[in-house]
Amino acid sequence: MHELSITQSLVDAVLDCTGDRTVTGVNLRIGRLSGVLPDALRFCFQLLAEGTPLAGADLRIDEPAGRATCHTCRQSFILPDTIPLCTCGSADVEITGGRELMLASVEVG
Ligand SMILES: [Zn+2]
Repeated sequence: MHELSITQSLVDAVLDCTGDRTVTGVNLRIGRLSGVLPDALRFCFQLLAEGTPLAGADLRIDEPAGRATCHTCRQSFILPDTIPLCTCGSADVEITGGRELMLASVEVG
């Protein structure tokens, strides 16, 4: 599963920073165009956190919307899904946001 390896990387990254300290909260940013399903990631996190200082941490996921700029009509707009198409009908759009997948912050007890 895609999300499982991503979550493993996140868990490893957090543990690298926090060592043996108990982690109480993890804040993630998962853009709506990142292709990662927050619910699946949440599920994987529960599994992988078990038995580590991350167990019981509060996982908060911010999901920034996709954003794009149209090269034809120059407008910037919210991209509701992964199909890059402007309301003017142009497909010549540049995705400017919503693909991020990052660890925003970690809280330790
Ligand atoms: Zn346009």
